[in-house]
Amino acid sequence: MKESEIIRTLFGTTPPPEDDCYFLAPNRLVTTDSLSEGTHFLHEWSSAPILARKLVEVNVSDITASGGRPKECFLNLGLSPLSRKKEWIRAFSKELRKSLDQYGMKLAGGDTFSASKTQLTLTVVGTVEKPWLRSGGKPGDYLYITGSLGKSQLGFRALKKKSKKNIYQDAITHHLSPKSRYVILKPLQNFQVHACMDITDGLIQDAERLAIPSKGKLKIQIESVPLDPLALTELGLDLCLGSGEELELLFLSPLVLPTKLAGIPVTMVGRLEKGKPGVHFLKAGKQYLPKSRGFLHFAEEE
Ligand SMILES: [Mg+2]
Repeated sequence: MKESEIIRTLFGTTPPPEDDCYFLAPNRLVTTDSLSEGTHFLHEWSSAPILARKLVEVNVSDITASGGRPKECFLNLGLSPLSRKKEWIRAFSKELRKSLDQYGMKLAGGDTFSASKTQLTLTVVGTVEKPWLRSGGKPGDYLYITGSLGKSQLGFRALKKKSKKNIYQDAITHHLSPKSRYVILKPLQNFQVHACMDITDGLIQDAERLAIPSKGKLKIQIESVPLDPLALTELGLDLCLGSGEELELLFLSPLVLPTKLAGIPVTMVGRLEKGKPGVHFLKAGKQYLPKSRGFLHFAEEE
């Protein structure tokens, strides 16, 4: 089954929530994310500290995308023969505490169990004043992307090819240790943001997840999309547009924003218009159809 069908089946007749976080109360939000050995990481690529950091960052990214601040968290650990060793647990715990401290977060509970492969799940609760939903976009809004796209996919491919070339080091670090855009939250809150999400499955799929809830036609100018130059040369356009786990923010605002906030590039890449909800990529004024859609959680035929 496809991920969307699995989610539909789980929720039955209730429509599944569409935002990065669930709002427990008007000012309280929660999210959860997992890292599973073999699916999201390999122990030979990621040390215990790298995994601890990534687990915190992917969750903080969802909280940030909803306009919130992380506060408490719950950790569920499925430990394999490798990860239940003293050295692994100690290294993981030390870095986890460091990462949580950095965001002023408190470990409030969790669960540990034995597993054949390492399974890491973090649930983060946070506070929010003005929530950013995916459904808040209005016709005429400008579409923005923070940072650039493509590096995560380039890093993943370099790791897979076991490439030792120095030029890939930055992309490999970006893939293994992505950073949330939490530092942009405060400066961005000074401006009107109508809708926001983080890029985890690639721009092609994620842009649709903003356009459909906002009930508009999202036009994206390919020439404006900030792509990592090395990733573009090595992988080509479509793979960069589909690069997942970037943790960049994709958002809609009625304003023309500064091109940099908190030192992070903020690039205008398109506009939301009235019309059939969906995404249109434009290249040299003509419609452009990427050949692949990017990261899929489950193969289509399963
Ligand atoms: Mg997300």
